[in-house]
Amino acid sequence: MTQALQAVRGMNDVLPEEAAFWELFEDTIRSWLKSYGYRPIRMPIVEPTPLFKRAIGEVTDIVEKEMYSFIDGLNGEALTLRPEGTAGCVRAVIEHNLAARQTQRLYYIGQMFRHERPQKGRYRQFHQVGVESFGIAGPDIDAEMILMGARLWADLGLDSIDLQINSLGQPDERALHRAALITYFEENAELLDEEAKRRLHTNPLRILDTKNPAMQAMCSAAPKLIDYLGAESLAHFEGVQRVLRDTGIPFKINPRLVRGLDYYNLTVFEWVTDKLGAQGTVCAGGRYDGLVEQLGGKPTSACGFAMGIERLIALIKDSGGEPAAPAPDVYIVHQGDEASRLAFRTAEGLRDQGIDVLLHCGGGSFKSQMKKADASRATFAIIIGDEEAASGEAQLKSLREAGIEQRKLKVDDLAEAIIGLIIDSDEEE
Ligand code: ATP
Ligand code: MG
Repeated sequence: MTQALQAVRGMNDVLPEEAAFWELFEDTIRSWLKSYGYRPIRMPIVEPTPLFKRAIGEVTDIVEKEMYSFIDGLNGEALTLRPEGTAGCVRAVIEHNLAARQTQRLYYIGQMFRHERPQKGRYRQFHQVGVESFGIAGPDIDAEMILMGARLWADLGLDSIDLQINSLGQPDERALHRAALITYFEENAELLDEEAKRRLHTNPLRILDTKNPAMQAMCSAAPKLIDYLGAESLAHFEGVQRVLRDTGIPFKINPRLVRGLDYYNLTVFEWVTDKLGAQGTVCAGGRYDGLVEQLGGKPTSACGFAMGIERLIALIKDSGGEPAAPAPDVYIVHQGDEASRLAFRTAEGLRDQGIDVLLHCGGGSFKSQMKKADASRATFAIIIGDEEAASGEAQLKSLREAGIEQRKLKVDDLAEAIIGLIIDSDEEE
């Protein structure tokens, strides 16, 4: 027997009911982004492997163990399925010279790939909305990006997402802190786990991000980066906080917030919920002023954030926000050759008028077709039999409101009647 084929572990199908939810979510996202002046950009899902190694950093979780990298057997190129969107977006901005004469506010929505252990809120293919700005030195844009998050949570009816911010300063400040951190960790060597020991000289900042309970107390007492920031970095950080205070966005400074990617400097932030178990970060980002130059472009200020769509949708569902799956306006029931021909013409005519139509396909008795019409949750059924077909007419029946009597109309008059009935019932509400 042939074995049934299955999706790759950790990669999910989004079935129609769920996908309808996603589309509604994406509609909200797009109008929210438009209201802040962001424009779409679409990058390839596959990029040259060196792009991610250079952008994200060789000694990060993502590059060390999470990337789907492969050699293109046809030409020997080293390629990777994108684990995040910023690197590709920066590559595109440089390649097409987008940030040369103007600032850019860009966004993308799409799949990302990381070879992680699949669990709730953590998948091998997942989706992000990514938002990036180029050519704005901030701290106004950093603050605006945080405000955007706050507004979106309000638009989505989510009130359980908390904001944490931190400043990573500039590379020279990080170097001073890094030296102090290494000394501190060496003094506490007996408390370090294997991973921390391995990271000690490659990426000590990331040790602070550990989830190991045995290391929490020691990490909490470690030298804090914020104590190594100079006046300019502190002023930038203060600038972000001032906007947040002015606009009434509550936040917590988390000195241990470091982010898992190497390219960040100055402001970093995360939006975190306790409603999703261990996978609580729904949105994360910060400033990455060095990345454009590091990838071969001219020095360009940049800032951005990404949110995980699966986690946000889980959160929306958790808070009871189930948007109604879209239903058609009309379901057309028909039987007999002539009736079918008229049904097709009628359906196209209604669609011309902007009415959503589900045309019954596959035959069956009137009774069974009417059951399907009910199940579709359409507002109206249109019924066409031989008798109606002969006179170019159809029965219009309301499936929702008992008070509306079934009536027979010329098919050319259906659109007007339906639109009239929809407007009437909207006014009553
Ligand atoms: P985590 O600490 O949860 O591993 P991260 O720091 O690796 O997250 P980022 O690279 O900042 O995540 O990605 C931004 C957002 O994308 C995360 O906050 C999360 O919502 C989402 N995300 C990241 N990895 C996954 C994944 N494997 N599955 C689903 N969503 C993810
Ligand atoms: Mg991760």
